[in-house]
Amino acid sequence: MVKIVKADTEIYFLQQLSDICIHIEKCGRTCYKSEDKITTETAIPFIKGILKSGHESVIEHANIIFSMPVTEKNYRVLTMRDIRGLNISVERDPADGVEKIIVSGNMRALRDIARQYDVHDFLLAAGNPLFYITESAKPVFDGVKVESVQTSRFSEQHNYITTHSVCDVGAYKDITRHRLASFSIESTRFCNYSKGKFGGELTMLEPCNIDKGTEMYSEWLGCMEMIEKAYMKMAALGGKSDQLRMLLPHSAKADMIMSANITEWKHIFSLRCHKAAHPSVQLVMKMMLEAFYKKWPAFFEAEYQRFICGEEV
Ligand SMILES: Cc1cc2nc3c(=O)[nH]c(=O)nc-3n(C[C@H](O)[C@H](O)[C@H](O)COP(=O)(O)OP(=O)(O)OC[C@H]3O[C@@H](n4cnc5c(N)ncnc54)[C@H](O)[C@@H]3O)c2cc1C
Repeated sequence: MVKIVKADTEIYFLQQLSDICIHIEKCGRTCYKSEDKITTETAIPFIKGILKSGHESVIEHANIIFSMPVTEKNYRVLTMRDIRGLNISVERDPADGVEKIIVSGNMRALRDIARQYDVHDFLLAAGNPLFYITESAKPVFDGVKVESVQTSRFSEQHNYITTHSVCDVGAYKDITRHRLASFSIESTRFCNYSKGKFGGELTMLEPCNIDKGTEMYSEWLGCMEMIEKAYMKMAALGGKSDQLRMLLPHSAKADMIMSANITEWKHIFSLRCHKAAHPSVQLVMKMMLEAFYKKWPAFFEAEYQRFICGEEV
């Protein structure tokens, strides 16, 4: 019997540097639906495996914010090397009133710039050898200091938010078009839903644009049941998940982890909370916007008024 679930979303908070590995493991295990394997000992071996296999997009879910003094040398290094993937600004620190260079980037970007541009200062400042490219590098900047992880007192471009959503394949296909965000999604290649772990059933997202109790809904449900029957029959014939997934429709449930900075989140809301977006995308994006507004009202006031309070659609 096909399982029907509702869309849902939650924020995955990362509050301190020492929790980066735990956060990355929690995000990364979504791909394999192996969250049940998490213990206090599993984060480091999980990340070692991720780094070894080259599946580095998983470490993009952790963002670090650094400060450094406004010196000629720091300016020169930042402008002379074509450093990609970092957010850079000069800001007056609200904590002490001092003007500083603020740099932020996710763990993937920090490792890439160490490899490609020989700039290791940020990884060294973060202090976790698990992510180092080399331990013997010389610093190229003056006085790089970690200020915060994920969110901070600095401007929106440096502040990062990670979410977990339950949506359908159609919604995640649309949402993953946003290029300045990072994603980890339940893999229909790794997950074989005929196995006991998944209850031997397919899970579909309740359609938000087909009313329950209508003939159209019965038609949709009948089709989902036929797909499930074919999936289980192919599995019984020895079909592998690579073959079985060819049957999965846009309604199939997907767990999606998504991270971006607030500037990109606002851009995504402006496109995906809008009535021109597909209803299943609007549904999950409006849920996120409400959760963000509750936590960070100052950043999301305009989007909340526009799309949730309906001032303008
Ligand atoms: C209503 C709607 C209908 C759509 N229909 C279709 C469709 O029929 N077919 C289809 O293929 N797609 C479709 N899309 C997807 C759309 O084309 C974009 O791929 C998607 O919305 C990503 O948004 P974006 O390009 O604005 O910015 P993002 O990818 O979120 O990037 C954010 C910003 O970064 C900058 N940026 C990022 N990458 C680059 C780059 N390589 N070069 C220059 N600037 C960059 C831009 O300023 C961009 O606004 C649709 C989207 C919407 C909202």
